[in-house]
Amino acid sequence: MQQPFKAIVISRDDDKVQSVETREIGFDDLMDGDVLVEVEATTINYKDGLAITGKAPVVRRWPMVPGVDCAGTVIESTHGDFKAGDEIILNGWGVGETHTGAYARYARLNGDWLIHRPAGISAHDAMAIGTAGYTSMLCVMALQRYGLKPEDGPIVVTGANGGVGSVAISLLSQLGYEVIASTGRPQEADFLKSLGATEIIDRNELSEPGRPLGKERWAGGIDSVGSNTLANVLSMTRYGGGVAACGLAQGMDLPATVMPFILRGIALLGVDSVMAPKHLREEAWGRLATDLDFDKLHALSKTIAFDDIIATATALIDGKIRGRVVINMGG
Ligand code: NDP
Repeated sequence: MQQPFKAIVISRDDDKVQSVETREIGFDDLMDGDVLVEVEATTINYKDGLAITGKAPVVRRWPMVPGVDCAGTVIESTHGDFKAGDEIILNGWGVGETHTGAYARYARLNGDWLIHRPAGISAHDAMAIGTAGYTSMLCVMALQRYGLKPEDGPIVVTGANGGVGSVAISLLSQLGYEVIASTGRPQEADFLKSLGATEIIDRNELSEPGRPLGKERWAGGIDSVGSNTLANVLSMTRYGGGVAACGLAQGMDLPATVMPFILRGIALLGVDSVMAPKHLREEAWGRLATDLDFDKLHALSKTIAFDDIIATATALIDGKIRGRVVINMGG
């Protein structure tokens, strides 16, 4: 264990103006926890982008090491479920928001937040999946729990080129569902088809205020966009269908009516990854190990250097990143 070690640190001055820098920190700068982890890989999620750019009040303790996800190796532990040498995954639980996070060589964490990394998923691949991909799996599980089967009809995926969207397309297609991808980047149509989308629609079809009920176009949806887009997805869902909602890339509002619920009996299924109980996380990660096509995962993810995290986080919030990014910390 070497210190000091490199970290990204978000600070706030007396006027509450936020600044971000890469600098060296030590173990004393990490918050309390019963498991010390050497971070092998991390990633950038939408929430990390919001934290680094300060575009939304994600960080609630200063100074903060951001980074909501890591895959790593346990160095020291007083938690009964983990011992030195164990390979773990951490997603969420306020890490990178209220508890010092993953953008550092080491993280001190609460063992109750961790899961053992499933055999068959490397640290690198775990972060190519990350919170975005694990949330896609939670959405798929929600649709399946609701009873939607491939033979019921197509599933629309909004924010298709994003992290949640691209993994959702891969998973649904692998499971035999027909997938309609909604995107603002039609130039990526071939990429989305290579992940398994059968039809590409322009997100402008869904992003403007729409009618309470529209033509029935899909049996269900996975929506990471919110606002008018989610309202329109609901209004175009077939009788008895279901929509899993997890995001707000367009906005946090939901300008919808009750008509899809009371005239078509459809269900809106909320999905949260941050505080999801451990059994759901273990189920989701176990299923990712078996249901995800790892060739597609490699096609939708790219590796960047630690020093590129800040610039890439800004690009992600600007909608300029396709799929997922991974940072290997070992080098
Ligand atoms: P990304 O930035 O990777 O993807 C978001 C995608 O949404 C973009 O790539 C773009 O896709 C689309 N998009 C962006 N801006 C707009 C807009 N104004 N109108 C319509 N579409 C837009 O983010 P993630 O996939 O990682 O996350 C997506 C959302 O899900 C975020 O809001 C995030 O906070 C949320 N989330 C929630 C979780 C939970 O626990 N509930 C967990 C993980 C994420 P395209 O270019 O194809 O149109």
